[in-house]
Amino acid sequence: MKRIGIMTSGGDAPGMNAAVRAVTRKAEHEGLEAYGINYGFAGLLAGDIFRISSVDSDDIISRGGTILYSARFPEFAEEPVQLKGIEQLKKFGIDAIIVIGGDGSYHGALRLNEHGFNAIGLPGTIDNDIPFTDFTIGFDTALNTAVESIDKLRDTAASHERTFVVEVMGRNAGDIAMWAGVASAAEDVIIPEKDFDVEAVANKLKSARARGEKHGIIVLAEGVMTAAEFADKLKPYGDFQLRATTLGHTQRGGSPTAFDRVLASRMGAYAVELLMQGKGGLAVGIQNNKLVTHNMLDLFDSKHEADMDLYKVAQDLAF
Ligand code: ATP
Repeated sequence: MKRIGIMTSGGDAPGMNAAVRAVTRKAEHEGLEAYGINYGFAGLLAGDIFRISSVDSDDIISRGGTILYSARFPEFAEEPVQLKGIEQLKKFGIDAIIVIGGDGSYHGALRLNEHGFNAIGLPGTIDNDIPFTDFTIGFDTALNTAVESIDKLRDTAASHERTFVVEVMGRNAGDIAMWAGVASAAEDVIIPEKDFDVEAVANKLKSARARGEKHGIIVLAEGVMTAAEFADKLKPYGDFQLRATTLGHTQRGGSPTAFDRVLASRMGAYAVELLMQGKGGLAVGIQNNKLVTHNMLDLFDSKHEADMDLYKVAQDLAF
């Protein structure tokens, strides 16, 4: 094996660049060449592929987003399109590929693998919703961004004795909501994995007010409903001086935290090692601070499990 391709696909996540850097440098360290593929599977098909050297990857470890860009390209689900993608890889002499992205990107990577082209997946998504990994690249940065914003909202909530419903990202997974809720001492956390009772939430706010806590924060994952919708549901239960705020895409950007940089560096270097061992069809994860691999196929049959112990902590501390 001489040449490794690397692409970022699906939604961008802080730390993707750190992974690109790690793959590039590890490849060079091992006497291999790295090739960047721009715009995910769309760029693969278009042949938007270039030799990426360790010099190109200088100074990118601290940058959010992805220097390889990302794109949605649903056409890659069609077999003739996949075969054309493989033709492009062969044209550039690329022997194997690393794909950083979410669940959808893993499907694309697995298709390449099924056509005899070794592909390894790295979990790059802020939602932390990939099975068999404790953390995905980008989650920690998004979490810290959310916490910083909620701290600011708490200042204004306290000054005006208001309750903020804060909508954070997480379509299927409540990880950002749960972690941000605990870290920002929220009065309640609402996640897609757990049913909620609006009246119980209202009662919590009322008893907090009765104890003298005159402001509140409720952290809501976007997969449940919008902050405005949740505020509307709460309104009939009392005068909580409600305000609804959606943090939105600010959570996707920004310089990655040290945790995400280290995670991405470890995973990127490991992926190169796996390809050098002739392995493919694997998704890299981290469990109990050890790098692990699982067959991508097994991932599709599984679901990321919410950490219900953490959910309980959130509830127990916000009575
Ligand atoms: P995020 O979780 O941030 O949305 P993702 O990787 O799941 O990231 P998707 O848009 O679902 O994002 O997928 C990224 C790309 O992977 C798609 O645009 C498409 O090119 C490719 N892809 C998705 N599903 C498949 C599939 N079933 N077969 C082949 N390729 C796929």
